[in-house]
Amino acid sequence: MIKAIYIYDAPDAIGLDIGVIAQYLSELLPDTQVQTRTDFFTYHIGQFDLELTDALTEQVVVRLDEREVHNLVAPDRRGDLPPVAPEDEDLPTVYQAEQLQDVMRAMLPQDERGDEHLHIVYITQCIGHFEPGEPYLTLQIIQHGQPTIISTTGFVEVPALPREYSFRRAQLLSFGMDEAVEELDERFAERALAHGDTRITRVAIGYALHALFQRLFGESGCDEPSCPLRHARTHDELIEAHLSENSGLCDHHTRMLIEARGEKGAR
Ligand SMILES: [Zn+2]
Repeated sequence: MIKAIYIYDAPDAIGLDIGVIAQYLSELLPDTQVQTRTDFFTYHIGQFDLELTDALTEQVVVRLDEREVHNLVAPDRRGDLPPVAPEDEDLPTVYQAEQLQDVMRAMLPQDERGDEHLHIVYITQCIGHFEPGEPYLTLQIIQHGQPTIISTTGFVEVPALPREYSFRRAQLLSFGMDEAVEELDERFAERALAHGDTRITRVAIGYALHALFQRLFGESGCDEPSCPLRHARTHDELIEAHLSENSGLCDHHTRMLIEARGEKGAR
C-alpha cells in the first residue's frame, strides 16, 4: 500500500481545490497519510535554508528554461515543416513531460522517495512528448512516475472536441463572426470542458485516481464509459467519465481497491 500521498497545488488553475481532492483520497485510503502542499517548486525550494533559496530558484529557472519546448515540430521534421510555437496554438508554456519530471525528481527528499510515496503535482503548463513518426508534439494530461505530473490545461487541450463544434467554430472564426462563436461556445459548454470551468476539481480527482491505480497496480484505464479511469479521447468521453451523474469508479476497480486495502490490513 501507499504510505503517503502529497498533493501539490497549481495556484493559477481557476477552480482547482486540492483540499477536496485530498479529502476524497483520504476517505478512499484511510490508512494512507494525505498531505496538501503549495506548488511543487515553491514548496521544495522552501525546505532549504533561506540563503540558499535565491541560488536554488535561479538554478531551477535555468533548468526549466532549458527544457521548455519552443517549437512543437518534431526534431526530425524541422527541416521540412515550418516552426510552430506554443503561443501560435494558444498554449501556455509547454515542457517535454519526462524532462520536467527529471527536474522535479531531483528535488524530492530521500525520505519521500520510493513506491510508498506518491507525489501528485498539478500544473497549468502543458506537457507532451515526441511520438515516433508524429510530425508534432503529442500533448498529454498525465505523466506517471516520480513525481506524477497532471496538467490541468491538458484536461481542455488534450481530448478532441466534438467534430461538429470544431468545424463550425473554425468556420465562424474565418468569417470573423465572434458573437456567433460565443453563442456556439455556450451551446457546447455542457459537452466540453473549457478553461476556467469550475468542474475542474472533479476531473482532477479522476486523474489522481489514474495516478493511484498506476502506482498500486501498474496500470490505469477502463472500458466502462462512466469510470474515471477510462482514457478519454474526446470531450464527450471526458464529461461522461468524470462529470456525468453516474460517473464513479466501476465495480471492478472498486473491488481492486478494497482488496488492496484488505491485504494491507492482513499483514
Ligand atoms: Zn473502471
